Parts: sequence; C-alpha cells; structure tokens
Amino acid sequence: MRRPFIAGNWKMNTTVEEAVTLVSTMTGDLRSETGVDIVLCPPFVSLYKIREMIAGTNIGLGAQNMYFKDKGAFTGEVSPLMIKALCQYVILGHSERRHIFGETDALVNEKVKAALSAGLTPIFCIGETLEENDAGRMGEVITRQVKEGLKGIPAGKEIVIAYEPIWAIGTGRAAAGAQADETIGLIRTEAAGVLGREAAGSTRILYGGSVTAANIAEFIGQPQIDGALVGGASLKASEFSSIVKQTGAIKAAP
Ligand code: PEP
Repeated sequence: MRRPFIAGNWKMNTTVEEAVTLVSTMTGDLRSETGVDIVLCPPFVSLYKIREMIAGTNIGLGAQNMYFKDKGAFTGEVSPLMIKALCQYVILGHSERRHIFGETDALVNEKVKAALSAGLTPIFCIGETLEENDAGRMGEVITRQVKEGLKGIPAGKEIVIAYEPIWAIGTGRAAAGAQADETIGLIRTEAAGVLGREAAGSTRILYGGSVTAANIAEFIGQPQIDGALVGGASLKASEFSSIVKQTGAIKAAP
C-alpha cells in the first residue's frame, strides 16, 4: 500500500505575509486529514515562518529547489543542509527549472544525490514537452529522465516521483486520467530498472499538470497514481483542501 501524497507547489507566488495568511486559512481544514501525506512548498523566504506555523501538525514542508553543494561561493543558491534544517522535502527537476533555467538531467541527478545524502526526500519531476509528445517521443524522454536523473542513487532511500507533462502545466489542459496512469505505469517500470522492483513498487508517483478540485478524482481513482503535485490550485485554500480530502476519501475506499 502506497500512502497518498499531495504537494502544493506555490512557485514564485506569495510574500511572507501572504504565505502566512494562506497557511492560516488552510491548516484548520487539513488538520483532520490523516490518510494523506500533505506537503506545502512555498518560496524559500517563507519556509522558516511556515515551519513554525505547521509544527506539530500533519502537514509537511518542502522547498522548490536547491543547489547540490553544501556551502561555499555560490551566490544566490541554497544548500541541502540549509533546506534540511527547515524541511523534509525538496522539489527537483521541475520543468520550469529545466526549461527556463537550463537544468540538465546531469545537474538534476547531482541535486537528487545531494538531497538524499542530506536526508531530504526529493520530489523528482519529469515530463515531456508538447513537441516531444506530438512526435511520439514521450516514452523515450521519460525513460531518459528517469535513468539519468536517478543514476547512482543509493539503495533504500525514499524518493517521490512527479510525472508532469509540460503541456499540462499551468495551461488548464490536464492529461486524461487513464493516459496519465498508463505513463506512470511506464515510469514505474523504468524506475524498477534503476531502483529495483521492490523499491519502485513502493515509490509514490504523482501526476501534476492543471490539477483542480474538479478533476482530482479522475487521477486519484487510477491504480498507478498515488497523488498529485498541484501548482495554481494550491494557492487557493479551499481548493487545495478539497483536493486533499477527495484524495483521502477515494484512496480509502475499498
Ligand atoms: C506545477 O507547478 O508543478 C504544476 C503542476 O502547476 P499547475 O498545477 O498550475 O499546472
């Protein structure tokens, strides 16, 4: 049994004040949900404050990125040790990092290894562009990202994978549930080649891309999909709570 997992990626949204308001609005609703791992990923500047606000609750905290070195002359970067002092999770390889900031599979792999050695759980993102999808190259791209991104990682460490087709992120054009389920099945098979069958079988694999309260059921009802990485909808307290609660109810149903 893989425990359902819902993470909110706030991206570059909210000042510290706005983040505090958002968290105060959603925690009441989320506190009672015990069947889902819930993780909030606000901007770096709000992590310290939100960590205090959610201490002792069932809500986890994640960063949206990090560099792979522990410390040094890397102006503007944040290290695994700094993140680990505040959070348990870190999003790595998000398509916005890959495509806007030029992160390669090799760099993402360095980051995944560094996160694991710092004791963090990476939320490792992969996904194909629209052009790759249209050209029938989705399988090839996903396979490469899994093999290169997870190369050489130590056995027995937890990692969460998020499949986010880039054409579905922030576009309002979500993948179909059955299509996402099939791709996530493929990702699990590829992950087994790197992590081993047993580890891949227990790895949570999420869908991400225009998930809302109106469509979460379509994804969560699928056998291979263990949860969601939610962008835009995670900035609305009632919508995010509804996504979490629907996930808990659907995955708990016999
Ligand atoms: C994301 O940023 O990871 C994401 C899936 O965004 P959205 O839900 O807004 O498509």
